[in-house]
Order: sequence, then C-alpha cells, then structure tokens
Amino acid sequence: MVGLCTAWYLQEHGVGVTVLERDRVTPGPVHAGAGASWGSAGWLTPGLATPLPEPAVLRYGLRVLLRPDSPVYLPPAADTALARFLAGFVRHSTQPRWRRAMRALSALTRQSLDAFDELADGGVAAPTRAAAPFLACFRDRRGAEALLAELAEVRACGQPVDSEELDALTARDRAPMLSDQITHVIQVHGQRYCDPGRFVAALADAVRERGGIIREGVAVDKVIDLGTGVVLAMADHASPPARFDAVVLAAGSWLPPLAARFGVRMPVQAGRGYSFSVPVKEPPTGPVYFPASRVACTPIGSELRIAGMMEFRRPDAPRDPRRIDAIVAAAGGLLRGVDLRARALEWMGPRPCTPDGLPLLGPTSSPRVHVAGGHGMWGITLGPITGRLVARALVTGRTPAALLPFDPLRRGTA
Ligand SMILES: Cc1cc2nc3c(=O)[nH]c(=O)nc-3n(C[C@H](O)[C@H](O)[C@H](O)COP(=O)(O)OP(=O)(O)OC[C@H]3O[C@@H](n4cnc5c(N)ncnc54)[C@H](O)[C@@H]3O)c2cc1C
Repeated sequence: MVGLCTAWYLQEHGVGVTVLERDRVTPGPVHAGAGASWGSAGWLTPGLATPLPEPAVLRYGLRVLLRPDSPVYLPPAADTALARFLAGFVRHSTQPRWRRAMRALSALTRQSLDAFDELADGGVAAPTRAAAPFLACFRDRRGAEALLAELAEVRACGQPVDSEELDALTARDRAPMLSDQITHVIQVHGQRYCDPGRFVAALADAVRERGGIIREGVAVDKVIDLGTGVVLAMADHASPPARFDAVVLAAGSWLPPLAARFGVRMPVQAGRGYSFSVPVKEPPTGPVYFPASRVACTPIGSELRIAGMMEFRRPDAPRDPRRIDAIVAAAGGLLRGVDLRARALEWMGPRPCTPDGLPLLGPTSSPRVHVAGGHGMWGITLGPITGRLVARALVTGRTPAALLPFDPLRRGTA
C-alpha cells in the first residue's frame, strides 16, 4: 500500500518510477510473506488511528498474554530484536508520550481521507465507502466509557472525531449480526472503509497506466548510495543490479536490514495479524469493532472479513492456525447468525510496528534514500497521505513540517 501510494504521488510530480516487489503486488491470501496490506481490515478511520504504545494497551497486553485464546502472542523465547522492540514499547507507553505521538499523527490523519479522494480523482479505480455506520461494540459500560475517553483525547490532540452512544436494539437494527451479549455500542461518525486488496490492485494499475514499471518477484538485497545515484543489488544474484536517481524503501516489516546502513536504527517488529472471510446473510453497512477482544469486522462484498491478533514473530515465520482459532473463539459469542466454520481466504500479514508507535517517513542519512513505512496498525488509512508527503520531500528536497516527527533517524527526539 505505502510503496504504491508513494509511486503514484511521485508520478504526480512527473517522476518516472519503478516499483520492485519481491512477491506480487496483489498476492491474494495464499502468499504468506507478501506483506501486510492485502487481507487487512481495510478501515480508513482517522478518528481511530492512534499510536499503539499506550498505558491501557500495555496493561491489556500484560493481562491477556497468558490466556490461551489471547489476542496478543509473544513467543516464549524472545529474540534480541523483539526484546529491544518490547523495551522501547514499554518506555513509550505513558500518557504524555502517547499525547505527543497522537499530536504528530493527527497532522497526517486529518489529511488522510482527502488523499484518498485525490487518488480517486486521479483515476485510482477502487471505491472507498462511507462507514454508515462504524460501530464499536461492548459487553459492558466500562469498555464503552474507555473508548469515549480515548476519542476525547484524540480530539484534544487535533483529530476531529464525532461519536454517539446507541442503545443495543438500535445497534442491532443497523448490524443484525450482533449477539445479545453486546449491551453497549458507540457509533463513530465520518469514517470509511475499502477492500484493501482491490485498492492496492487498482493503485498498481494506475501506476502502470501512467507509465510506471512494476517488477514483481524481485527482492532487493542491498541498497548502495553512489553519491550520484543509488544501486540496488538483488537477492537473486543472477539478476543484474539496477541503478536509480533515488529510492524510497517501503518494505513494511522487512525494512530494517535495507535501511540500517542509512542510519535507521529504529526497530520495526512484525505484529502479525490474521483474517478470514465468512458469508453473511445481512452484512452490516460499515465496520464493526469489538475492542475488548481486538476483533475487527468489515463487510467486503457479500462477505464479512474478520481480523485480529497481534503475534510478535518474524514476518516470514509460518502461519500458526491456532491464531485463527483464537479469533474464532473471541468472535463466537459476539456474533449471531454467522457461521464461523464457513471460513475462506485465511490470511496472515505482518503489521510493521515501531516501539514509539510512529511511522518512519522521509530522508535518511542519504538525501537519495528515503523511507516510507512502520505504520503499524494504520498503513492503509495513512498510505495515501504518506505517499503525498514523502513524494513531496523527495522531489523538493525539503521535508514538509508534518513529516518532521517521523524522521526515520529520530534526530532530535528523546
Ligand atoms: C489483520 C490486519 C488488519 C489490519 N487492518 C487495518 C485497517 O483496517 N486499517 C489500516 O489502516 N491498517 C490496517 N492494518 C495495518 C496495515 O495493513 C499495514 O500498516 C500496512 O499494510 C503496511 O503497508 P506497507 O506497504 O508499509 O507494508 P506491506 O504491505 O507489508 O508491503 C511491503 C512490501 O514490501 C515487499 N518487500 C519486502 N522486502 C522486500 C525486498 N527486500 N525487496 C522487494 N520487496 C520487498 C513485501 O513483499 C511487501 O509486499 C492491518 C493489518 C493487519 C495484519
């Protein structure tokens, strides 16, 4: 998502682009290891796109970690990179740091839907839909109050978001698949959603139609800055190296080894999520979220996509079917009339998570090597606005103010 958005916006500036993808840009569910975008929940939700490190998330993670059906999974033998990520994550999980991160993010989230409109006007032929409604559903009042308090914080940090409480009967009218266990519902206004696989495919088509080259099955092994241009050495040494004037590294959870030689030390840890689709008789007309179980549902065509889990493992480690079982167990009591055994399109994708919850955007120690990644939970919502701003930084040589907090080297940040 992020690489193709950046390519599209570079083309807006008249730049000729080549996108190198080690797998396929539209991989479908069978391609494990082909990125985080295809099977995501597709929410375009500026009002909910908050930094992950947060005291409540930390408390929640610690509380649920030992449950067999936990929506968070940590491998028993943590590796050094994961330990570094977790130590940083804990350090950033304070309210003041969350607020600072949220204020920075809101400069992106505020413009995020506008960037989707710009892509649509420019010919990216995949629809985004108004979430009518977006429902956050709870088994108790406490959960609903916690979300309302968080939305108030989001507003205070500069991202407008309106919401209202619905009684459970009204909510069930709008989303008949909600079970009787749901007693409290908050409707969040002004959000959207899309089919992310379809969106990425349309972006790729648009980039090609405008003369861009997309090379699939090409894995970059090393990035070498020559001072006058950049050479990419390929992992398959039989493929010749390729030379460009500049590059943007948008490799999701695989970013660190490519970017490290350009001063990028921030860990990017794969927070692997899983999703699947089930048929539903009456799909809701917008996403449905169960925050306490971290389960996200999105209507995609006549199906409901159900997504969840945060599994901290290497992005290329094999999928673990027990994670799908955990989502099924969590979703079971929350939904009615949905046959969770009729699952199709089972998928796993690695969210590229940073310990401070902020993406890595803009120039590195080389003005010819830029980074666009590390959006964690929110790379679909933030893909287009990222592309717009990163392309501007690369073409003009001046980093837009909104990007400064996301400096990939975190220069000047404690
Ligand atoms: C279950 C789930 C639900 C989600 N729901 C939402 C949501 O509702 N809304 C939202 O905003 N976000 C959501 N996200 C997060 C979002 O999907 C990610 O933040 C986003 O997809 C990251 O995009 P990206 O382009 O940075 O990375 P990726 O999509 O991972 O793309 C990186 C690409 O780089 C390629 N690559 C890697 N290394 C190399 C190399 N060396 N050479 C060439 N190519 C390489 C990979 O194959 C991959 O295709 C969700 C994620 C998951 C897992």
